[in-house]
Amino acid sequence: MDFLTDLARTPKPEDFPYGPGRAKYVKFAEGDIGVGVPKIFFEDPHQHNPKPGPKGQIHQWGLSPYGTGSKYVEEDSNYPAGDDMITSMQRKMTTQMSYGGPGQLQTPEKQFVEVLVERKKKQLESLNLDNLPKRDVIITIRLHLLNDKTGAPRIYRRFRVSAGIRLNVFQDKIVAPIMGWTRNLHAYTFTDFRDGSLFGPEESRHIDMVYLDGHGYDYLPDNKYMLAHLFSKEGDEIGYLYDFGDRWYHEMKLKKCPFRQIEKILDIDSSDGEVRIIEGRGMCPGENLHGVHGFREFIDKYENEGDYRKKQEQKREILGTPNYKSYHKPASLFDPFSFDMEWTQKLLNEALASPTSIPSGARSFKMPMRPDALDPTTWDDPTKAGKKLKKGQAIVREFDTEQDGLSGMLAKMGMGGHWEETVHTQRDKRAQTVCAMCGKPGGQELKQCSGCKRVLYCSRDHQRAHWKSHHKKQCTKEYIGK
Ligand SMILES: [Zn+2]
Ligand SMILES: [Zn+2]
Repeated sequence: MDFLTDLARTPKPEDFPYGPGRAKYVKFAEGDIGVGVPKIFFEDPHQHNPKPGPKGQIHQWGLSPYGTGSKYVEEDSNYPAGDDMITSMQRKMTTQMSYGGPGQLQTPEKQFVEVLVERKKKQLESLNLDNLPKRDVIITIRLHLLNDKTGAPRIYRRFRVSAGIRLNVFQDKIVAPIMGWTRNLHAYTFTDFRDGSLFGPEESRHIDMVYLDGHGYDYLPDNKYMLAHLFSKEGDEIGYLYDFGDRWYHEMKLKKCPFRQIEKILDIDSSDGEVRIIEGRGMCPGENLHGVHGFREFIDKYENEGDYRKKQEQKREILGTPNYKSYHKPASLFDPFSFDMEWTQKLLNEALASPTSIPSGARSFKMPMRPDALDPTTWDDPTKAGKKLKKGQAIVREFDTEQDGLSGMLAKMGMGGHWEETVHTQRDKRAQTVCAMCGKPGGQELKQCSGCKRVLYCSRDHQRAHWKSHHKKQCTKEYIGK
């Protein structure tokens, strides 16, 4: 602890270009002279001109330097360097009581980014999207850093979707299931690489939101914008970061991929809004399994070193993670390098046929004596008291009764560790959702199921088809909750 206080006592004059505690725009709280604040925040955000990284993309409002101390320097050089851990920890310790409370200033960094958020909102208000929201796009999404020996991505998906889909629905019902991530478990952001602006879940209570300061400090609410707001032409790229702790960076390309066919924006006549998974490679990493750098080592080891027994062990480790809970196949039938189209299609169908997730009631794992009981980020959890639920919301709890031994016994008695999530009990708003059958974005023309009144369809045909394939079983008294 001493070395931190020592650091705090020895600021250098060049740390403060306008004098201690002074900046061109942001205000410092009394007693804070700005030790540990990155230099960029002393400038005027209205003059901020974000600089692209080596690949021409702008990340996180253009606020972080590019490159990193990791050993994958070449591949990481295009990405923000991330926090200077010691400096930011030291700054948090010395100033956390001075900002963000009632009657207090927001942190200088937040004040700065607020200006960028407002500037972007204004630009989007006057943006003319023309007919783009009515056109379908073909997208390839790949996971950063997880390449094979030839440099080709180990994990990618190629799919088709309407550009008119809301970003929150796109993340929740399309990207998460198609990639293989759990819905509503972690926070995320989309990046418009043209200016580094960020879009993310409104009122998010995902547990990794505590790391938001390391990922751009703030973002625009993604439920107000469409996919079409993030690109304008073929060849544009969109960033997607999933899980602020594990840092799964994705890139979505709308252009000719070095390893695949042309990605394109379809014309209106050939656009029907239907989501289609075209192809893919590799299976999703396990959630909470080592993070991006750790998983790369894990999967390289799987490829290069493991004998049969060790490979089985590694497979079981992946299958034990939350996103493989519904996989239900033995490790011997699981191959991390080959894309399981059937299972992925099933995840997509399930997501489309269900209401949009509620980020303020994110999925989280609860233990009777939880190890994170002392973590203040979990204290203000609305699902705990159950009193902040809005109309049309309910809490669902899922006990893992398959466990052996004491934990399994406690689970069967309803006293064990369990997953908890806030869900919608009513259907989504028409303007903000998609057809439960095909994923076509909504509008007044969406028709609801007259039985349960919970799902919407773009046409009678899709309602009939969905009834046969899925909804006949789903549209029951139990589902309606009556
Ligand atoms: Zn449809
Ligand atoms: Zn129904």
